Amino acid sequence: MTVDTALPTEPHVMHTYGRLPIALSHGRGCKVWDTQGRQYLDGLGGIAVNTLGHAHPKLVPALQEQIGQLIHSCNYYHVPLQETLAAKLCELSGLTNAFFCSTGLEANEAALKIARKYGHDKGIERPEIIVYEKAFHGRSIATLSATGNVKVQAGFGPLVEGFVRVPMNDLAAVEEVARTNPNVVAVFLETIQGEGGINPARTDYLKSLRRLCDEQDWLLMLDEVQCGIGRTGKWFAHQWAGIQPDVMPLAKGLGSGVPVGAVVAGPKAAKVFGPGNHGTTFGGNPLSMRAGVETLRIMEEDGLLENAARVGGLLRTAIERELEGVEGFVEVRGQGLMLGIELDRPCGELLGQACEKGLLLSVTADRVVRLVPPLILSAEEAAQIVAILCPLIRQFLAGGKA
Ligand SMILES: *Cc1c(COP(=O)(O)O)cnc(C)c1O
Repeated sequence: MTVDTALPTEPHVMHTYGRLPIALSHGRGCKVWDTQGRQYLDGLGGIAVNTLGHAHPKLVPALQEQIGQLIHSCNYYHVPLQETLAAKLCELSGLTNAFFCSTGLEANEAALKIARKYGHDKGIERPEIIVYEKAFHGRSIATLSATGNVKVQAGFGPLVEGFVRVPMNDLAAVEEVARTNPNVVAVFLETIQGEGGINPARTDYLKSLRRLCDEQDWLLMLDEVQCGIGRTGKWFAHQWAGIQPDVMPLAKGLGSGVPVGAVVAGPKAAKVFGPGNHGTTFGGNPLSMRAGVETLRIMEEDGLLENAARVGGLLRTAIERELEGVEGFVEVRGQGLMLGIELDRPCGELLGQACEKGLLLSVTADRVVRLVPPLILSAEEAAQIVAILCPLIRQFLAGGKA
């Protein structure tokens, strides 16, 4: 994209992101507008965050009401909305207790602390956690150490120890660790890897992991920060495999844009933390809890799980139809409204090209076009995504310029 000179430079913001030269000013549903008045279709949802799209007519008045009552109180006091949201997450997941924080990495950090303490409580002094190639769990020192991407880790060593890495969907690799490493206390993976290129854990693999974790007395910890909260057409992606984790970090879509993170735990893990073991200043504040409660309520009321499954299915089928037989197209992966289109070559430039054509999306793992739109996406909007995106991909693969 050409640099928009009307855009202000930002000499005081740390240069940590490669940004496109636009700034968004407002949105409605799955449409957003930039400060120059150009309109975009939102295929990215703020990276799987804007569950209800933008300016949702049911969410906005609820949040306005909450802001007028109480934004933050702090965890010296009871926050009744924490129990409301925790109870709802437990009802939806079959787990028993939740801890609230504000971001995905914090939810994962809490999960890692639970796993280590679970080990210490069992008398394992140097607990180790099985993590995965291509995993992404965040950018704190511990979560970047669990992450399987050397680009995320480069420059930040020494890394946190206590991780054993295995490839995805390879049961023998985990069984080998079980045979040889008595210090393992947990298996930690994304049910569908997001940043790693939309790589789903297979259903049979998840079932086998559940069985192995039970046999070994390990915690099964499923990072559903990106794939959870209805995105795949079930509340949580692991529910497609009919299993339950012991620990489940959540964030991204839970507050529909308001920062909310949670770690939800079942009986094996829910009592590992006691008073003084963990905490956060912002976590569970009334505004973020209200955002979570209302997001889940509106999702249920408006049938957004069904919508994600149905419209996601349409989107996937249409993309496959449009790209079938095109040289350089590898496959579409994912489920519901979490889709990755793998190409045979790095395709980062599609980001700017799609933006110029009025479509927001992302490219992960160099070669995978990622679509994680709001769960309110309509069939017509899905068709618009296909109509903009597929010709761009064909042109790109043919070596032409958009
Ligand atoms: C985005 C993401 C994270 C990190 O979340 P932040 O809110 O950016 O800290 C962790 N795990 C997964 C699977 C994610 O997609």
